[in-house]
Amino acid sequence: MEQLYLTVALDTPLDTCFDYRWQGGGDPQPGQLALVPFGRREEIGLIVAVGGRTEVPADKLKDALAVRLQLPPLAARWIELCAFAADYYQRPLGEVAVPALPKNLRAAKTVALDRALKKLDKLAPAGDATPADAPVLNAAQQQAADAISEAQGFAPLLLYGVTGSGKTEVYLKAAARVLARDAQAQVLIMVPEINLTPQLEQNIRARFPGADVATLHSGLAEGERGLNWLAAHLGRARIVLGTRLAILASLPHLGLIIVDEEHDPSYKQQEGLRYSARDLAVWRARQLGIPIVLGSATPSLETWQHALSGRYRRLELRERASRDAVLPKVRLIDMERDRPGQGLTSTLVSAMKLRLERGEQSLLYLNRRGYAPVLACDACGWIGNCPRCTAFMVLHKPEHRMRCHHCSLELRIPKSCPTCGNVDLQPLGRGTQRIEEGLQQIFPQARIMRIDADSTRLKGSAQAAFESVHRGEVDILIGTQMVAKGHDFRNLTLVGVLNPDTSLFSHDYRASERLFAQLMQVAGRAGRAGRKEGGNASEVLIQTRYPTHPLYGALMRHDYDSFANGLLEERQQAGVPPFMYQALLRAEARELQTALDFLQQAAGLQPHPAIVINDPIPMTITRVANVERAQLLIESASRPALQAFLKSWMAALRAMKTRARWSLEVDPVDI
Ligand code: ADP
Ligand code: ZN
Ligand code: ZN
Repeated sequence: MEQLYLTVALDTPLDTCFDYRWQGGGDPQPGQLALVPFGRREEIGLIVAVGGRTEVPADKLKDALAVRLQLPPLAARWIELCAFAADYYQRPLGEVAVPALPKNLRAAKTVALDRALKKLDKLAPAGDATPADAPVLNAAQQQAADAISEAQGFAPLLLYGVTGSGKTEVYLKAAARVLARDAQAQVLIMVPEINLTPQLEQNIRARFPGADVATLHSGLAEGERGLNWLAAHLGRARIVLGTRLAILASLPHLGLIIVDEEHDPSYKQQEGLRYSARDLAVWRARQLGIPIVLGSATPSLETWQHALSGRYRRLELRERASRDAVLPKVRLIDMERDRPGQGLTSTLVSAMKLRLERGEQSLLYLNRRGYAPVLACDACGWIGNCPRCTAFMVLHKPEHRMRCHHCSLELRIPKSCPTCGNVDLQPLGRGTQRIEEGLQQIFPQARIMRIDADSTRLKGSAQAAFESVHRGEVDILIGTQMVAKGHDFRNLTLVGVLNPDTSLFSHDYRASERLFAQLMQVAGRAGRAGRKEGGNASEVLIQTRYPTHPLYGALMRHDYDSFANGLLEERQQAGVPPFMYQALLRAEARELQTALDFLQQAAGLQPHPAIVINDPIPMTITRVANVERAQLLIESASRPALQAFLKSWMAALRAMKTRARWSLEVDPVDI
């Protein structure tokens, strides 16, 4: 019998695949998983080729220990997707492909895999349950759904619909048609966060009772995630609902991709392989020649630009879908005239009082958790810094702690000033906890709930909190961006926005794009049901010191079009994305100079006419957990030029000797 050799991709930073001899039986295929010796360990890797010869000398060659023959191979298309991501983000294939597989399926023992396969085998096909009724689509929704169904081959579509315009119904209609047309077809629906919007999952399950809906997100237990992944891989799951990690799921019969809230920053993975799931989704749709729907009320400027240039087709929903529901009226409260007490202006307090009287709900949005961002001493000027970071310790009053939001250090609240002994330390500024405290004093009878990362630390608690809001057990909801996303609150007629001004003058050119999206999104929580008889008109009140700022003007007119066009013009003039392509080299070390020296050397490695290499600079928050951090920005007007440069640059960087830890990010968003 001919000797077989397996070429295997492993999860290691070494930019190469590894050959092994295969002496076992069976018929191993590319796309299957193999257990192989690697250094002193045994590792699971992805077989990318099976052949009769190898370049590796016989005395260097090791035997593969096992191949998971029971697992049908991952498709060549899937490996191609991983190879593209690896190439584009400058990583070895194994570092992309292997971690994309659920942990328990790549364990050294096969127990979990075998159990999962058996379990799936036993599951009865979910059967002839009747799907829940769908509302009759309005004309705009119908048109959008038709355009998606009629699209041929690769078709990127921007579903640009105001909040509450019923984008979900368009997705579901388009999905239903794809499933009906082809008995095998699969649909991938991506959302920024599943835990925050369980409504959507319930909706989809009710609408497609027989279609084996599988969810994929990091909140699932390993066992369940493995099972769901397999269901998708084996084609059992016809609809996969997932977060960014789902973009690398194996979906052999994928026929349609939907990316809901495509502008949401959560689609960007911010550690390890720093990929954009939205960008990969577009690539995957092109690879497979299928339509992709990018939905948003405030599309990312990248997507907006593609729509303007005609690369993406724009479908519009200009009005709210529910009967009588209209977009809320946005008003600005000038904080210079109406000075806030306890962080709340009298105008906002009166508006909340009106809602309480009518039994309607109010939502206060403040994107800052904790009690106060700083604790300070008036007497000597002491300020509570984190001893390990260039950042303040945030006062968390209910927890009786000072917390660093960067390194998670927790300290007791000092009873007196560590410098001068003054016992009267002052909290400066306000976070959600302090606003909550103020609300309890102003409205002692009201049922007030705070939802932020602190109040929802326990698993399932966020969901429980939102359910109680939906059941009407809450009069006033105060929260961070967690409350802004996707929720279809039916009885909420007032949104108050506290302290959004800080983002107006940020050095980060993306800050205003993000602020506008956040404000549109949170504003969109108000008035989603039609106005009740005698009820309040829905409104959004924004407390600001800059009532004449053009961003607020555009927001009041619900005019994303001209706001986005204006931003694009500015970006073009400034020469920043989406008109420029960027990569960021980060370095960190105990001494800042070590990191800067490494970057300085890296900058000098290979000059290139089409590439701008900026000066190395310390990061804004330079020290985190006693590690000093610096960065180097690389720019080019040509994506291919940048890609070619990065490829050879990476090889040179890998050969450099340094004590700094470094990593490269392509298309960075936080710079
Ligand atoms: P979006 O995602 O665009 O913000 P949703 O999909 O959450 O909006 O829809 C907003 C509300 O309108 C939901 O309560 C939904 O059930 C309702 N809705 C959607 N389409 C219709 C329709 N054609 N007729 C009546 N109500 C609808
Ligand atoms: Zn002091
Ligand atoms: Zn810290």
